[in-house]
Amino acid sequence: MDSLAEIAQLVRNCTDCPLHQGRTNSVPGEGSPDADLMFIGEGPGAQEDRLGRPFVGPAGRFLEELLAMINLSREQVFIANMVKCRPPQNRDPVPAEISACGKYLDRQIELINPKMIVTLGRFSLARFFPGESISRARGRLRQLNGRNIYPIMHPAAALHRQEFRTTIVDDFKAIPGILEELGQSPVRSAAETRQEEMPPPEQLALF
Ligand code: URA
Ligand code: SF4
Repeated sequence: MDSLAEIAQLVRNCTDCPLHQGRTNSVPGEGSPDADLMFIGEGPGAQEDRLGRPFVGPAGRFLEELLAMINLSREQVFIANMVKCRPPQNRDPVPAEISACGKYLDRQIELINPKMIVTLGRFSLARFFPGESISRARGRLRQLNGRNIYPIMHPAAALHRQEFRTTIVDDFKAIPGILEELGQSPVRSAAETRQEEMPPPEQLALF
């Protein structure tokens, strides 16, 4: 997979897990190919499945509002999901589906090579830090295999709960400052930063 366009083409025709059976459109992800920030959600919902684009429903409108608060548009970042096809009735994706779809996300991360990955919600957090609770992990920059990972809540979870909304807004507003610090000491040369080990693949498939 040499380009984001090639990944998108493969995703559109993919039948590697049962989720392909129920989809209208698969949702490869979209945004700037050299984005500093890459957002990773869970999987497409109804609107996303209908349009083939990520975060275009209510959670997406909220994500756009959050981006606007830090003077960014969705075109300036890259927005992707753990699974590229909608799980039936919006059920949670199962480990086999996440694992089958992981090759696309992994390659998108490599090609975009963002300064920071922002994981949205617990599934996306678990892809990098299995077994950790979102309430403890959120709002804290982490490093894993030379990548900067900043876990926050899922905008859908924060949309209708005032206390969560305040939390996600605060975590979002911290992003520019974190990026600025990373600019001064890019993680790839930050020898002092404790590097965490990538979990072995078996473990990734088990969360
Ligand atoms: N929720 C997600 O996790 N991803 C989307 O694309 C839309 C809603
Ligand atoms: Fe393929 Fe991913 Fe869609 Fe499953 S969810 S069919 S692995 S693109």
